[in-house]
Amino acid sequence: MSVRIKDYPGREVAIEELKERYVAKEYKAVLRYAWSSGVAIGSFLDGLKRGIILGRRCNKCRRILVPPRMYCEQCFRKTDSWVRVKDTGEVKTFSISYVNVDASRRREPIIVAVVELDGASKDVGILHILGEVKPEKVRIGMHVKAVWKKEEERKGAITDILYFKPR
Ligand SMILES: [Zn+2]
Repeated sequence: MSVRIKDYPGREVAIEELKERYVAKEYKAVLRYAWSSGVAIGSFLDGLKRGIILGRRCNKCRRILVPPRMYCEQCFRKTDSWVRVKDTGEVKTFSISYVNVDASRRREPIIVAVVELDGASKDVGILHILGEVKPEKVRIGMHVKAVWKKEEERKGAITDILYFKPR
């Protein structure tokens, strides 16, 4: 189904409307969509359902890409093989957020982090959240471990990992 732009006439949003979250309150999206995850992310998500994290190795640059990609953007060639990496890693960067995706305020902050997984290359990481740690205790270089959903609750999604906690 295509979306016709005339169905959604645009207009300028006033600062007052943003402050009042007028935009978020006004529009309720009911959208149906399908998304093909492709071979790399499809296998990555299947792995998560099984409680493992998969990456792809490029034999030319010797990097291990996580999340996996079928094509190495540095070597301009197909990646070569699947690699299982650990569910432990190191916080490379993080952000403490008091704002939800709908711009509403959070009482307790959420800590979003890039985690470089053990076994993956040094220059790649996955974006996830941290748990079981106070914001003021989070540090770059902190060692963390994935906390998984129970096996029967996993769906093959990044949220099969609930969060990463300090180890
Ligand atoms: Zn490469």
